[in-house]
Amino acid sequence: MKIIDKINEYKSKNQRFYSFEYFPPKTMEGVQNLYDRLGRMLLLEPLFVDITWGAGGSTSQLTLEIAETSQNICGLETMMHLTCTNMKVEEIDFALEKAKASGVRNILALRGDPPRGEEWKKIEGGFGYASDLVRYIRQKHGDHFGIAVAGYPEGHSDCTSKEDDLQHLKNKIDAGADLIITQLFYDVDMFNDFVGKCRAIGINCPIIPGIMPIHTYAGFKRMTTLSQTAVPPHILEALEPIKDNDEEVKKYGVKLCVQMCERLVEAGVDGLHFYTLNLERSVRKVLKGLNMVRPDQLARYLPWAQCASTNRL
Ligand code: FAD
Repeated sequence: MKIIDKINEYKSKNQRFYSFEYFPPKTMEGVQNLYDRLGRMLLLEPLFVDITWGAGGSTSQLTLEIAETSQNICGLETMMHLTCTNMKVEEIDFALEKAKASGVRNILALRGDPPRGEEWKKIEGGFGYASDLVRYIRQKHGDHFGIAVAGYPEGHSDCTSKEDDLQHLKNKIDAGADLIITQLFYDVDMFNDFVGKCRAIGINCPIIPGIMPIHTYAGFKRMTTLSQTAVPPHILEALEPIKDNDEEVKKYGVKLCVQMCERLVEAGVDGLHFYTLNLERSVRKVLKGLNMVRPDQLARYLPWAQCASTNRL
């Protein structure tokens, strides 16, 4: 089923949803662990899960395989990421046909990043922007796929101005995308401001906040530097005295995430999208803290989580 239809169902019942992002692991053992994890997360009934497309198409085969397994064997509504980087139209066609044949009905259409230190270049016979990919999917496959696109509350790093970036986001919706998933952020006011600006220029689709719980101090620094995410001073102040204590950092990460999500729900978001980093303990604690998981879901899930090796959770 298309994710936008599921979101509309939830909205009509005045319910909020949650969803989880995973990336293709590097080893076969990692892939097996991910399948086990997907099986457990199914018990928490996310609206959907999504599988990333490795930078420059580096995991294309594995992304396709995991998306197929997640959709067909695990029974999770699955969205496959697809980037234009290094992809000729024939390769995009192959990926879309494979997704279609696997029953994957949802695509996150992206431009992708250039290799580190280089500028992004469209290859001959490829697409220049995510909006071109969205338009192409609609032309070629009509309404078969649900299409999501990426949004950047702080503006995308390549863009000349935030206003232009917003207009480019609108182009992606006008080209046929159904919903927006945002880059991770830690400043809720800035996200709310972004949503207001989107609405003001006529972007009326769901805008789903991308949330990443803090797991370790080093990981948090790396992620926020890579994605050029602004970190409000109160977060840095809270982390500074505990930065060498992983357990304390995780605990703080869950508390902060619950507070952020409460404010987002209050502001009226349709759902919460978690960047899980292929982990599950913090996300589960956040959902519990938000009272978003029912006791019967937890009762089914917890014995399996306890069976799994705790240091991987
Ligand atoms: P676009 O929407 O095409 O925008 C790219 C830049 O071009 C922006 O600065 C935009 O303002 C500008 N632009 C757009 N249209 C025009 C135009 N007509 N003229 C001039 N400028 C224009 N990367 C991966 O490699 N794999 C993934 O799985 C992945 N998943 C992601 C998931 C989410 C939710 C997010 C937020 C990002 C993800 N990324 C992923 C990263 C993403 O590929 C990069 O941020 C990339 O640099 C931009 O992709 P985009 O689809 O947003 O590009």
